Amino acid sequence: MKSNKTKSHMEWSYIIIITFFVLGIIDIRFGILGMVCMGMPLYLAIKGRGKVHCAKYCPRGSFLGKFLSKISLGHTLPKWLRTNRAKNILLIIMLTVFSSVLSYAIINHGFHFVVIAKVFYRFMLMSFIVGIVIGVFFKPRSWCQICPMGHGSALIKKSQDKKSNNISQ
Ligand code: SF4
Repeated sequence: MKSNKTKSHMEWSYIIIITFFVLGIIDIRFGILGMVCMGMPLYLAIKGRGKVHCAKYCPRGSFLGKFLSKISLGHTLPKWLRTNRAKNILLIIMLTVFSSVLSYAIINHGFHFVVIAKVFYRFMLMSFIVGIVIGVFFKPRSWCQICPMGHGSALIKKSQDKKSNNISQ
């Protein structure tokens, strides 16, 4: 596995997610960039870099940590929500909802760039709002404890570790 001694960009990477939402308001076609945001944690995990995206790059995590710390009520997320079972269920729900919404949009409006961009933009916005609401009631980055993309990256890392342990035995 490659070393994760990469410099953290969390201090400023929130600018990326703000820019993304503003660009999407100006022109919904920019919504397609949501694909990068959703895919990057998984891509880096597949490349053997574990959860480096969550620790050093994630614009959403950066935003939550930076802006919610002053207004957050700071409660701890319930234990049952932090279990692997709950995270797995959330990941399955997210994948199901996302693929259903995408298929529905394509069936009804055709396979167009704008249609797909709109789905990504709305999905990013919806999960962003959920992350903020959770961060206000609970600790600022509580969303990161249940985030499907973060959990997906952790699962990839776990399976890679297991594979390399099996090889070395
Ligand atoms: S858990 Fe999700 S929101 Fe949090 S840093 Fe990772 S990818 Fe970003």
